[in-house]
Amino acid sequence: MADGVSQLPEQEVDKTAESLSALRLKRIEDEVSSSYVLVDIGANLTNSKYSRDLDSVVERAKDAGVRKIMVTGASIQCSKESLRLTRLYPGVLYSTAGIHPHDAKTWTEDCYELIKELASNPECVAIGECGLDFNRNFSPPETQLEVFEKQVQLACEVKKPLFLHERDAHDDMVRILSKYKDKLPPAVLHCFTGTSAQALKYIEMGLYIGLTGFLWKDKTDDGVRSILEKGLIPLDRMLVETDAPFMYPNVRGSKIPAHIKQGLSERSLSFLNRYCTFQRNEPCALPVIVEMIAAYMKRPPEEIAMAATINAIKLFGLN
Ligand SMILES: [Zn+2]
Repeated sequence: MADGVSQLPEQEVDKTAESLSALRLKRIEDEVSSSYVLVDIGANLTNSKYSRDLDSVVERAKDAGVRKIMVTGASIQCSKESLRLTRLYPGVLYSTAGIHPHDAKTWTEDCYELIKELASNPECVAIGECGLDFNRNFSPPETQLEVFEKQVQLACEVKKPLFLHERDAHDDMVRILSKYKDKLPPAVLHCFTGTSAQALKYIEMGLYIGLTGFLWKDKTDDGVRSILEKGLIPLDRMLVETDAPFMYPNVRGSKIPAHIKQGLSERSLSFLNRYCTFQRNEPCALPVIVEMIAAYMKRPPEEIAMAATINAIKLFGLN
């Protein structure tokens, strides 16, 4: 770049310098106006819904303040693909490697070694998405239990954090994790959808809680919304994620109280409204999720953003 500039006539150099400083100024302005610096700890960017415009999706996320995104691995193929994506966006995308409970039935003898090999890459920062889903039982429960435990053992062996999924399986999740408590690496219960007692149990066990746009869907009296209102999740245990393309935060939902809607900024809403739909959520929806969490907790969104980002960087060792 510098060489190219030095070969230009003097007037041209002036112009180039001018436009460069204008560009820098614009960058600084952008920096100031996007008040958050965020890490999306879970986005399924290997989903075919992004195959045609992933560049724009990542660019928009950056514009929205989402500096780093962890791409979820949910099967062997998907974990390989997640790792491949990190090479296309170094320093921005990171990956996880594991087998989702829905896909537990695809587990074969060689999966342990395959995941271990993927996890040996520095860009792969967690084991998972793994866990238990007795809500849908796309794989038989006994298979899920077995395949989950193997991945817990693997995380203990390679000492990488666990990215956990749990639906209607709290007791079994606690039982298996407790078995390994002496050597268990840090773990996050992603897209938490349980009760306050379950959240407190996970926090007591040292787990982190991942929060998504699920907040909009929670209609229970003792679910995520009330957990946030009561301040039950300490800021040093909170992580934020979009789970894109899923978990679209429906800000127009009629059940959402007015004071929560008022906590959402024009800027964050503009990313959501322009680029995200029920069919395809995107990482640029993360600021809206953070503002919603903040509104329920009655705290400044900057505080939530800062805490969640520091937690993510520390927990997953992002550079
Ligand atoms: Zn999940």
